[in-house]
Amino acid sequence: MPLFDRFERPLRSLRISVTDRCNLRCQYCMPEADYVWLPRENLLTFEEIGALVDVFTPLGVDRLRITGGEPLLRRDLRVLVEQLAARHAVADLALTTNGVLLGGQAAALRAAGLHRITVSLDTLDRERFRGLTRMDELAAVLRGIDAAAAAGFASLKLDTVVIRGVNDGEIVALIEYGRSVGAEVRFIEYMDVGGATRWTPHAVVSRREMLATIEAQYGTVLPLDRSSAPADRYLLPDGATFGIISSTTEPFCAACDRSRLTADGVWLLCLYATTGTDLRRPLRAGATREELQRLVAAVWSVRSDRGAEERLGMDRETTLIPLRHLKKDAHLEMHTRGG
Ligand code: SAM
Repeated sequence: MPLFDRFERPLRSLRISVTDRCNLRCQYCMPEADYVWLPRENLLTFEEIGALVDVFTPLGVDRLRITGGEPLLRRDLRVLVEQLAARHAVADLALTTNGVLLGGQAAALRAAGLHRITVSLDTLDRERFRGLTRMDELAAVLRGIDAAAAAGFASLKLDTVVIRGVNDGEIVALIEYGRSVGAEVRFIEYMDVGGATRWTPHAVVSRREMLATIEAQYGTVLPLDRSSAPADRYLLPDGATFGIISSTTEPFCAACDRSRLTADGVWLLCLYATTGTDLRRPLRAGATREELQRLVAAVWSVRSDRGAEERLGMDRETTLIPLRHLKKDAHLEMHTRGG
């Protein structure tokens, strides 16, 4: 039975973080020198993830996205993919990755039944990549993207966080690169989420600015019908498409059907949420599927958050979640929640 919240938003899409560890240190996500990690013994096993997916699917979830941290760091991820892909209730099984380890895993993930891959790629310039991520891994990421294209994924997407003065000069180059590898690029507005301790409103390049840059190069672009995806998609005069995710300047809370499960089983309703529902404890204490479903239904049916819209209303210069809070609770970090 589909479940709706107070704003008639269905519970539909679940993002599952499989690790809080990452092999990059992006300035907009993990800029600090050190981090507090989730205790290893708290990480959900594949069986536990499967059990929670079976709690969510009868309530309407049919889209899963595996994320992290960097999900490809999780050992034997393809086994989890195989287990989730085998569930009839799962109509869409996607993965978000930074691509560093994708070259060695793309074919196996495809064979395991993964439907779609999104690779985060912010720049095509090696030095800029090193400055942005603090790792010299651009070549590995590009190899990963080639491997994903060769493995035959039907839908390959590239996600780019656009930051003023950093990579906003690469919008056209990234569209052209996407075209060359058969991928659609989606430009994401820089968000003031937990962990983005260097965020300032001045660094945000708005959807309007991005469209102006793109139209200056290609001519008028046509908006395409909005699906339930977070991106608004556009058509270039030459037939190529791209997307913009304007979570910061034009949030889309009313259309949000997403929720998130951290690698240790905390269920979050919103990227901006400061608390979540711990599903690991009741699961490990022996709660039945029906009991967990009652818990999930009770939480979702009274959901009334609009995190990104509320953040926009605050119009503050300082970041929403200060570093001292992040140090106390890893669950507030974007790399723990999965993006
Ligand atoms: N490691 C994987 C990856 O790089 O795609 C998955 C996790 S990452 C947290 C998921 C997405 O969140 C990435 O596309 C990343 O660019 C995005 N992200 C992280 N911090 C962000 C921020 N402050 N604003 C906008 N997007 C952000």
